[in-house]
Amino acid sequence: MTDKIDTSPGGIKASSNPARETPAANGARPARVAAGSGTGTKAAAKPKPKPKAKQRAPRIPYAPEEIAEIFRRFSVQRPEPVPELEHSNPFTLLVAVVLSAQATDAGVNKATRGLFAAADNAAAMAGLGEETIREHVKTIGLYRNKAKNVLALSRQLVEHHGGEVPADRAALEALPGVGRKTANVVLNTAFGEETLAVDTHIFRLGNRLKLAPGKTVDEVEERFLKIIPPAYRRHAHHWLILHGRYVCKARKPDCGVCVIADLCRAEEKTNDQPAALVELAATAPPVAG
Ligand code: SF4
Repeated sequence: MTDKIDTSPGGIKASSNPARETPAANGARPARVAAGSGTGTKAAAKPKPKPKAKQRAPRIPYAPEEIAEIFRRFSVQRPEPVPELEHSNPFTLLVAVVLSAQATDAGVNKATRGLFAAADNAAAMAGLGEETIREHVKTIGLYRNKAKNVLALSRQLVEHHGGEVPADRAALEALPGVGRKTANVVLNTAFGEETLAVDTHIFRLGNRLKLAPGKTVDEVEERFLKIIPPAYRRHAHHWLILHGRYVCKARKPDCGVCVIADLCRAEEKTNDQPAALVELAATAPPVAG
């Protein structure tokens, strides 16, 4: 799971910080006009800063009942979805998510089996040392930096949190290598909070289906959380990831196995008939029938 955004042909680019600072926002001051400078004119009145235009959320082409129906179908398909990153407790989940930036879940799982057998808690991980951690994760991209972060966050957990993973966003985001998305995954999966970690799949779905269009992951997160009915917020994160990974794929959506094909408003849609609504294994892809 990563903070990266899909740039593949079917994906949509995003900027994590599109806002351009205005001179005023930068702290730049307007030029001063000296009073009594001999010209006989009064000092120019300081221009009032323009009130920031409030950005309106775009209208979405779905009625609330249709949105509820989309998530109801996802909930029938996978009543208890689980993450594909292997973990046994909040600490191993946190480490697995930190390691998963720009890597596949399968690749991370391969590396963490040995790592977690050697250390499945913060104190043990801190005791392994950087070189040993690096050796375990060397098959994962950016492994040097990730090994450093895993060691540093383990030490911080031991020093400041009694070796436990805190169920608190600010404390999580203060750990090395942990950003908003990682904190969202941990808060959702380990502590049951109704957070949504927007990865490349969720970002694509928000825009492609026009359910939660946005230029940044933060916009997509905010808009999804506004429209998802409360009863479905807890698992929406996993349902959307699995739907994006196995059905509504980046290059070519597999509309023939899609259970929401009749409701979907994507331009890329190739089929109007929803697939049969049957329960699937927690992380299994649907099979064309
Ligand atoms: S119908 Fe096609 S485009 Fe729409 S959600 Fe399903 S797979 Fe994606």
